[in-house]
Amino acid sequence: MLKLENLSVSFGAKRAVRDLSLEIAEGELVCLLGPSGCGKTTTLRAIAGLERPDGGRVCIAGRVLSDAAKVVPPPERGIGFLFQDFALFPHLTVAQNIAYGMTRTQKASDAGRVVALLERVHMRQLAHSYPHMLSGGEQQRAALVRALAPRPRVVLLDEPFSSLDASLRAGLREETVRILKDAGVTVLMVTHDPEEALISADRIVLMRDGAVVQTGTPDALYAAPVDAFTAAFFGAVNRVPGTVAGAEVRTRLGAVANPGFRDGEAVEVLIRPDGLTLSPGGERPGAELHVCSVHFAGASSVVRLSERYDDPGHDHFHARLPGLVRHRAGETVRIGIDPDQSFVFSEKRSRPAR
Ligand code: ATP
Repeated sequence: MLKLENLSVSFGAKRAVRDLSLEIAEGELVCLLGPSGCGKTTTLRAIAGLERPDGGRVCIAGRVLSDAAKVVPPPERGIGFLFQDFALFPHLTVAQNIAYGMTRTQKASDAGRVVALLERVHMRQLAHSYPHMLSGGEQQRAALVRALAPRPRVVLLDEPFSSLDASLRAGLREETVRILKDAGVTVLMVTHDPEEALISADRIVLMRDGAVVQTGTPDALYAAPVDAFTAAFFGAVNRVPGTVAGAEVRTRLGAVANPGFRDGEAVEVLIRPDGLTLSPGGERPGAELHVCSVHFAGASSVVRLSERYDDPGHDHFHARLPGLVRHRAGETVRIGIDPDQSFVFSEKRSRPAR
C-alpha cells in the first residue's frame, strides 16, 4: 500500500534521511522507531508531501506521489495525519474539525459519518465543544477521528501519545490501535519509545542517522537484534568483552554459545538484565559476583553486581529479577546467563556473525 524507494531528504549539508526503502502492506501498522534526530519525522513529512525529497520515490497503492519528475500536493495524497500536538483548529467545534477534510461529495453521501466517528470514540456529547474545552485525551481522540474522516488509505501518526500523561497513555494507545485496525487503514507511526513500538506495531523499522538499521516483527527485533545498537535500544544491557574458544564465547560472567565467530576474534557479549540469573555463591565453580545493592521496582527488583564489593570504580552489572528478591548487599552470588537474552557481536563492527 505504501512504498518508499531510496527516499533521501536533506536540509543543506545535513542528510536527514538516506536511501530509505520500505514497503507497508494494506492494513499493516508499522512503527518507525529510533533516537531523537534520526530522521523519523522527516520521513513522515516527506510521505505527506510536507518536505520535498532530494531523491527517491513515494508511492501509495501503485500511484507515484513524488519522484524526480513529479510531486503531488499534500491534500491530493489521500493521507490522514495525526500530529504530535494534535493541531485541531481552535476556531472550529469538534464536529467541524472532523468534517474539515471530507470532500463535499463525502459529506453529502455519508451524512452520518461525523456522528458515527464521535460515537466510536465516545465523544458524541462533545460534538459542539471547542478544542480548548477538551482534555488532552479527548483532543487526541478528536484528532484521530479527524484524520480518519475522509477515509484515507494511509494514516501517518507522529508521536501521537507523547504529550499525554503517563496514566492516560497506555489506555489511549490501546484504543487508538483498535480504532485504526477496525478502520482497516495502513498506518505508519513514529515513536522514540521502544515499549510503545513493541506493544503497538505489526512491524518495527528501527532507524539511526537517517537510515534503516533493522526491520522486523517486534519479537524478531527484540530476540534477534542485528547489532549492539538494536539490542541496547530496547533497554539497558550488560556489556562484557568475550573470547572466542571453539563452540563457546567466554566472558567473566560465564560462557555463551559461539554463533559462528573465529577463535581469537574480538567480540562483545550483550546480556539483558533479565538474562542474568543468580544462585547462592561458593557451591559450584563458575563466575561469581558481589551484590552491591538491591532496588525494589514494583513488579521486579534490580540487583546491582560487581566483581569487587568494596571498589566503586569497578564495572557494575545489573540483573532484573521478578518481584521481591532475597539477595542482600555484601553477599556473593553465582551468575547464570540465559542464552535467549544474550547476544554476541563482533567488537569491531558491532555486528553478529550471522
Ligand atoms: P525527534 O524524535 O527528536 O523528533 P526525528 O527522528 O523525528 O527526531 P527529524 O525531526 O526527522 O528527527 O530530524 C532529522 C534531522 O534533520 C535532525 O538532525 C534535525 O535537526 C534535522 N532537521 C529536521 N528538520 C529540519 C529543518 N526544517 N531544517 C534543518 N534541519 C532539519
